[in-house]
Amino acid sequence: MAASLPRYAARPMTQPNATQAAAEPEGGPAVGVRWNLGDLYAGPEDPALEADLARSLEGAQAFAAAYRGRIGALSAAELAAAVDALEALDEPVARARAYSGLLFAADTSLPRHGALLQHVQERGSEIRNTILFFELEWVALDEATVARLLEEPALSRRRHFLESARRWRPHVLSEPEERLLEETANTGRRAFSRLFDEIMAGMRFRLEMDGRTIELGEEELLAKLHEPSRPLRKAAAEALSAGLREHARTLGFVFNTLLQDKAVQDRLRRFATPPAERHLANEIDAASVSALLGACERRFELVARYYRLKAKLLGLETLADYDRYAPIPGEAGARPFVEAKRIVLEAYADFAPEMARIAGEFFERRWIDAELRPGKRGGAFSASTTPKLHPYVLLNYTGNLRDVMTLAHELGHGVHQSLARVQGLFEQDTPLTTAETASVFGEMLVFRRLLRDERDPKVRLALLCGKLEDAFATVFRQVAMTRFEESAHAARRSEGELPLARVNELWLDANRPMFGDSVQLGVDYGWWWLYIPHFVHSPFYCYAYAFGELLVLALLRRYDEEGQAFVPRYLDLLRAGGSDTPPALLRKVGLDIGDPAFWDGGLVLLEELVAEAEGLALASGT
Ligand SMILES: [Zn+2]
Repeated sequence: MAASLPRYAARPMTQPNATQAAAEPEGGPAVGVRWNLGDLYAGPEDPALEADLARSLEGAQAFAAAYRGRIGALSAAELAAAVDALEALDEPVARARAYSGLLFAADTSLPRHGALLQHVQERGSEIRNTILFFELEWVALDEATVARLLEEPALSRRRHFLESARRWRPHVLSEPEERLLEETANTGRRAFSRLFDEIMAGMRFRLEMDGRTIELGEEELLAKLHEPSRPLRKAAAEALSAGLREHARTLGFVFNTLLQDKAVQDRLRRFATPPAERHLANEIDAASVSALLGACERRFELVARYYRLKAKLLGLETLADYDRYAPIPGEAGARPFVEAKRIVLEAYADFAPEMARIAGEFFERRWIDAELRPGKRGGAFSASTTPKLHPYVLLNYTGNLRDVMTLAHELGHGVHQSLARVQGLFEQDTPLTTAETASVFGEMLVFRRLLRDERDPKVRLALLCGKLEDAFATVFRQVAMTRFEESAHAARRSEGELPLARVNELWLDANRPMFGDSVQLGVDYGWWWLYIPHFVHSPFYCYAYAFGELLVLALLRRYDEEGQAFVPRYLDLLRAGGSDTPPALLRKVGLDIGDPAFWDGGLVLLEELVAEAEGLALASGT
């Protein structure tokens, strides 16, 4: 609860980013678009950073001196003051944590950055250990005392925070045990996570192109899977498989270690199943997740139906795995970054000028890092920092339509995180399940605007296909990835350390039901679980994307029905951040996620989009 890690709301690592031209200027089309972390600190050597760490630690020690052993005896007003004090002492270290994380993401290759990240993590653990007693004493209180306290108006502002801390009650350990786990995580779980990032960021892939071999980083290589040339896509897929195979032993060891680390943690903390801890963190029950996964699986046929259409559009008999991201004829060329910015801001302004204003600040005040650089972390994310400051956005902009969507996506997070700052440090961040609300919504706004302005049926079809592929990546692919994780965690627990071939088999088994006979997955595709960061950084993250996308489709339907009246309620939902449980917050906009039929609503919309694409394809004579 307290001193939680900053939220990195990353885009699903599902479809790689694409690029258009092979001859691209250094830095890509967003060259020079770098963030300015000066609002946090002047640099890694800024003495203010060390001072902040010291301030938090002193605050934690003073807090312990004042409250240790007394939590059960506090009045409601005193308890409210204690939580305020806890939040205040957490603020400086949150700033340092955000900075070290962002600095590392911007260039993972500099040893100084890795060292600072590690240093802040270690100091953070010291602080967390000093105040750990608060959580333990609070969850140890009996139900009647807690119920009486939470009734008091003095605690109304902190009710959700305190109540949600109690949900960990069956899973917390004794204080010495908790302290031990916290400190050893820095050389255990967190160290393996970082090793994964460093290996991936440093990896070079050898691509055979036009009779010569070039070396590419992960992002640049994945972009080649979006090329119109089939031999090039095939070569890129082979280069990816070969590169992953080369590092498979180390990456596989990292994965195996983390699977076992989780098994140990789950046993110690009495979590009955591998995803149970994630469900609890997400404030959602296993039955709702199971309803979501089941509803999606029952519509896997949509994926196969779409890829059969795509094969036709590409003039292929069947698709190979490296054809999945092939551009549909009619897709527009590369867009300069300024155009992407214009498209996103205009789409946001159509919906709510306030959203465009907040998103605009990210460009004006340089809170965004979009250029391609060696050593920079792949993918994209928006990171909330502290409520006194603002979020930062990172992406790797290569200029294609998907990158425009990524910009819309991350700025959606940015707007959400900005609006939720009013909730303060402890309640600004939502659980993962609702973290994707504004990001996916922002993408849909951009998609609809582009579609509205486009007259050429071929381009319209390409737009529609792009949206569908994206939605499938966010919904169905995430469901398959969740099934893969379930099987991998279960297999590690029953079979011991997993041979890589076994993990490959589990990965293929999880992916096949989604594609049916529409895409031929090669043997090499079996290795492609190796580069997905979510499996390493945050087990069972993936279903939250499916949750988020289908939730957003339901929100859009509300918007279509209610028009402008919906907008302020939507903004209130964003402003609420993590101040209540997702079901409670969503009820205020008229959505009932407890209803098992809820998920079908969004899936039906996807089916309509597939039918529309089929219709357009027929009309344009393909
Ligand atoms: Zn996201």
